[in-house]
Amino acid sequence: MTTAVTRPTTLYRGRFAPSPTGPLHAGSLVAALASWLDAKAHGGQWWVRIEDIDTPRCIPGAAEMILSQLAGCGLLPDEAPVVQSTRLPLYAQALERLRLQQAVYACACSRRAIEQHWTALGMSKARHAEWPYPGTCRDAKLGSHGRACRLRCGTTTAPLHIEWTDRRLGAQTQNISDTIGDFVLKRADGLWAYQMAVVTDDAAQGITHVVRGEDLADNTPRQIHLQRQLGLPTPIYLHTPLVLDARGEKLSKSADAAPFVAGRDAVISALQVLGCALPTARFSEPLNDTLAGAVNFWRDRHVISKPVASSNPPNF
Ligand code: GLU
Repeated sequence: MTTAVTRPTTLYRGRFAPSPTGPLHAGSLVAALASWLDAKAHGGQWWVRIEDIDTPRCIPGAAEMILSQLAGCGLLPDEAPVVQSTRLPLYAQALERLRLQQAVYACACSRRAIEQHWTALGMSKARHAEWPYPGTCRDAKLGSHGRACRLRCGTTTAPLHIEWTDRRLGAQTQNISDTIGDFVLKRADGLWAYQMAVVTDDAAQGITHVVRGEDLADNTPRQIHLQRQLGLPTPIYLHTPLVLDARGEKLSKSADAAPFVAGRDAVISALQVLGCALPTARFSEPLNDTLAGAVNFWRDRHVISKPVASSNPPNF
């Protein structure tokens, strides 16, 4: 692993960015494989970034396990993996730029205080959703020490809408002001938030294409807003189908989804989720041949020279 910051490029550069909170499960393999296939089908580079900033959730040895699972599926990064915990000064520099623009502010609200704000107004929250931040500390001018730092997102008179196009999901829109509110870039405990680290690193590494699971699609508008605030380019996004368990819930490490056994069978199952079903006659070929065939399939189906029409996204 390395800490090197590499120069941005105009070529295709994709990444898989696992959090080392446990071994990969079948759902994460789908995202990893799709990002690898898309990079290879474009003749581009594929990198791995270990997203270990949420240290209380990281498990010792998980990063090594993830890299070995990827290698066992033939997914080898083109550069040594980059580790976010070694890049904290980059996030501090980005935050300083936002501070100079007065785009961020310190916030003293606990989750409970945010919840109480809304319940006192008789509001209830959809299952799995977070309460939007009501903007309580926006103009409080609090000191930043020991406090969360939030990014301003629109105003009461001009809510922030982000529109973007996903290569698979088509045209998307989100009103960040109503659904999320000013979001956290640095937590009160001093840890960097995912949004801050992912946007800074995607730009610093010159990532041109982000291919990841659909569970992260609703983070994309926040990332686009942050990119715009920082004057950074927006990558092209593709969010891949999720793998659901028997109850219809997405597989997740936190729900203890079983790790997959690395190898051809796992790759073939992931390819099926991606709409790339192999003829049975090819089931005994070596893994590298399977992957090479899948790259050709992906190139024919998903590599296009002009933008995807939002009404007609490619069929996965
Ligand atoms: N680290 C995130 C995760 O494991 C993925 C981040 C990304 O691909 O943007 O869910």
